[in-house]
Parts: sequence; C-alpha cells; structure tokens
Amino acid sequence: MNIHEYQAKDIFERFGIPVPRGMVATTAAEARAAAEEIGGEVVVKAQVHAGGRGKAGGVKVVNTPQEAEEAAAGMLGINLVTHQTGPDGVPVRKVMVAEATDIKDELYISIIVDGDLGVPVIIASTEGGMDIEEVAEKTPDRLFRVAGDPLLGLSPYHARDVAALLEVPQSAQRATAALISNLYRVFVDNDCSLVEVNPLVITGDDQVVALDAKINLEDDALFRHKDLAALHDPEQEDELERRAGSADLAYVKLDGGKVGCMVNGAGLAMATMDITKWAGADPANFLDIGGSADQGRIEEAFRIIVSDDEVEIILVNLFAGIARSDVVAQGIVNAAKETGATLPMVVAMRGTNAEEGRRILNESGLDITAAPDLAGAAEVLRDKLASAAGGAQ
Ligand code: GDP
Ligand code: MN
Repeated sequence: MNIHEYQAKDIFERFGIPVPRGMVATTAAEARAAAEEIGGEVVVKAQVHAGGRGKAGGVKVVNTPQEAEEAAAGMLGINLVTHQTGPDGVPVRKVMVAEATDIKDELYISIIVDGDLGVPVIIASTEGGMDIEEVAEKTPDRLFRVAGDPLLGLSPYHARDVAALLEVPQSAQRATAALISNLYRVFVDNDCSLVEVNPLVITGDDQVVALDAKINLEDDALFRHKDLAALHDPEQEDELERRAGSADLAYVKLDGGKVGCMVNGAGLAMATMDITKWAGADPANFLDIGGSADQGRIEEAFRIIVSDDEVEIILVNLFAGIARSDVVAQGIVNAAKETGATLPMVVAMRGTNAEEGRRILNESGLDITAAPDLAGAAEVLRDKLASAAGGAQ
C-alpha cells in the first residue's frame, strides 16, 4: 500500500528524521494561510501516489502567500499526469505547503528488501534528484548498496559507511549516519516494502534534510499496523484494481496485451500467461478469482475484465476444486448478459462440476468456445486470434 508524502513525513518525524516544516491544505485558501504562517519562500507540492511531480508541474517554489494560493489553485482538483502515472493521471485532493529549502546538494537513498539476499538493502547515490532513473540506467555504478541484517539490523558502522559514501560534508556526517539508522528503523518497524528519500538534501548551511518521502507498506503486514492501514487512499488507485481489491479478487493490469485472463490460483495464472504468449498474443490482465469464489464475486470478476478497454478476447482457465465450475459458469453468463459483453471467450474447465459448467456455457448463446484442457485452450486461442486477424484484413 502506498501513502502520501505528507503521511510519510509524519512517520519520518516520529523517528527523528529531519524534514522541512510543512502543512497540508485541501483548499487554495488553506494553502495561502499555511504559507503566511510558515513565512517567506515556500514550496507547494501536489499530494499524489506518484513521483515525477517536479517535472510535471506538481512542485512549485513560490515567494508569497498569494503565489502559494495560486499554485495550490492550479493543482487542486486536477489529475496530475507524471511519468509514473497512467495517461489519465491521479487526482490531486491535497497539497503540502512546506518551508522552502536552500539546496546545496541532492542525494538519493532508499531501502528495499533484496529478494536474492533476503535482507533489507540500502541503495544510495550522490546523484539524487529528478533524474535518478537515468542515473540507474546509464551509470549504475553511481548507485551503491549496503545490506542490513534481519536479526542485527543496520550496524552504526554501516550507517557511517553510507554517510561517507554519500560524500556529505564532514560536519554533516554524524547527522547523516543517524538519519540513515532512523530510516532503517522506519523500514523495519513499519513493515515497509520501500522507503525512499529523493532527494535527500544537504542545505546551504550543511544540514541534512529529507526533502521528499516515499513509503510503501507491505500489504501482508498491515494487519498489525491498524493506524497505518487507516492511511489508505483508494482514490489514488487504479479503479479496476480497487474494485477487485474490495471484492477480494487479485487483479493485475498488464501493458499492451488484448487477452483478458480469468483463472483460479497464482500458478494457473502464470501457466495461462505462458500459453497466451505461446498462442502469439499478450495478456491484457489477469484476474485470480482465488479458491472459493461465490457467484457474486465471479460476476464482479467478469465485469472487471470487460471494463478493461484493451481486452478483445477472454481466456477462462479454471481448475475447479473448492470453487465449482457450474457456479463460475453461471457467474460468467449472468455478468455477460448484464453487461451486454459480446467478446469471444475461450474456456477451459476441469474439476468439480466441470460438465455442468460446460453445459451452462454451451446453452448460454454467448460466443464461447470450450477447450478440453490448458493445451487445448492454447490452440483454440491461437486459431481464434488468427481468424480475428484474417477477418480484419
Ligand atoms: P518528485 O518530483 O515527485 O519526486 O518531487 P520532489 O519532492 O522530489 O521535488 C522535485 C524537485 O523539486 C526536487 O528534486 C528539488 O529540485 C525541487 N524542490 C523540492 N522542494 C524544494 C525546495 O524546498 N526548494 C527548492 N529550491 N527546490 C525544491
Ligand atoms: Mn522526489
């Protein structure tokens, strides 16, 4: 789960990490009042679950409360499109108004779990700021990594090491090492999957400050952080992923494909994506209905798949155990009739009540081709795609 910058900075403050003084505003008038209270130069920042705001007009340094009000008015209510959002962008409902920082140097620091090492790893670079992706791509040697230890944490020695590698001024070394240790505690204590500070700033008077803050929380650990779970902002999420989440379905949108995949189980999802590729196509998404899907959830699953404009054909691959084929079939038929969806479907059903499921589909009058198994589904899909391509010429 993602949270907003202002929420991440609240957490940072609780862990003793210096951030610029700031306030949240939901109206332009509030932004003006905040700028008046802070005084002097302030920065107005759109609060969205996406980076790249600086290059997209979502971060503005201004000199007066009047300008802060105008900057906020220009952001609030719009959908901000950055290189990290889809083409529709994400809605700006809040802005942060913060004391402007006199920046001498922009550094980069993040913590993630390294899947190979199985430990939290600090990634840092002297080349922080808005072009970090380019640094990572073109000069990866400018990013260095220091591993923590799941039992021992991050040793003070390692924290000092990172501070030294970041080449911060001598007088800021101690504060930087402390900041790094605290950042590591933020990561571990809150069960984060990502903590990122870009930029970590050295100010004109050699103070170290977290100018930006990004925290991703591990969904599977949220049950033990009720206060953090409350920070959820569903408005920032993809609408279909949100709908799937609230129906307890696992939906993943994939780029560029046209085959909508409905499956039960993660392993079957992977196999289904493989056969889709084998058939010469790409998945547009996959939706995992899980083990014990009731009819209402199947109907919602189908509605979600057909709401994805890129889907041209649907591949249903079911290995029914606890989930029953007839329930899934009836759910699909109900939802297809309700939505008026006319997309062709290739359906492989095995397991509990598979025959009854096939009968329901066959008698539905919908454009459904039954396949005996996974391999059969691949062939039917390939033929369907070939004839669709031929028909279009
Ligand atoms: P992001 O683009 O969404 O990651 O937003 P950031 O919070 O990282 O801000 C983007 C850039 O705006 C930073 O890299 C800075 O160069 C600039 N910026 C942000 N806050 C300030 C500030 O207080 N003073 C100055 N001078 N620049 C700032
Ligand atoms: Mn940033």
